[in-house]
Amino acid sequence: MSLPTVAFPTYTTKLPVTKKEVSYRPFLVKEQKILLLASESDDTQSIATAILSVAKACCLDDDVDVATLPYIDAMFLYLQLRSKSVGEIVDSILHCDQTNLKGEVCGNEIPIKIDLSKVTVSNIKNASKKIDISDGVGVQMKLPTFEQILRIESDGNESTVSMGVMEEFDLTIKCIDYIFDGDQVFHTGDSSQAEMVTFLESLTEQQFSPIAEFIESFPSLYFKNEHTCPRCKAKNTIELNDISDFF
Ligand SMILES: [Zn+2]
Repeated sequence: MSLPTVAFPTYTTKLPVTKKEVSYRPFLVKEQKILLLASESDDTQSIATAILSVAKACCLDDDVDVATLPYIDAMFLYLQLRSKSVGEIVDSILHCDQTNLKGEVCGNEIPIKIDLSKVTVSNIKNASKKIDISDGVGVQMKLPTFEQILRIESDGNESTVSMGVMEEFDLTIKCIDYIFDGDQVFHTGDSSQAEMVTFLESLTEQQFSPIAEFIESFPSLYFKNEHTCPRCKAKNTIELNDISDFF
């Protein structure tokens, strides 16, 4: 006699960038195990891979591929999953980044509680941008997908913390949806990496700067809360943009 199967609750949420309505279920015990293993490894790459695999499994819409969603949508979905599965409060550590008069960083570790129901997305209007460079030539920028962000991190030696110049350039290319010249459109996927590098390197510093600005002002998950550092007494506002911050 086969054992009974247990029904699980389902929820829906609206993704902030694509505005898609997606339905999902909470983590099951088997997925909780995947996340636990990743958190024990304490490695950003493993954590991101685990988040992706769990978010894929919990997303109930066949037409939504979490790997190819803009990463901020994928992370937002993960947060919803996390809060419905485990609870809305995440214990985390805030590193005080205040500098004193001598220019030394405080670096104190402050234990904090993050209320996932209060996490919002900042700079949402910067999810895409058309940039005119010169004489009808320009670029259409977009957010990288979750899968693309993962690949950048695995290509680099370390996590995002020590992203080198080449990885940054790689990220720039992944954020270009297409290059246009008047009515002609050149999709990034149709050009080689070398062609894209040549295109970007041929720009002047001034022409390149709005592209760099777009990347610097990406939307990010934002948890607005102030904590006073017990050591230096400075106020810290937390901005969550690293996956491991709210894992
Ligand atoms: Zn401090």
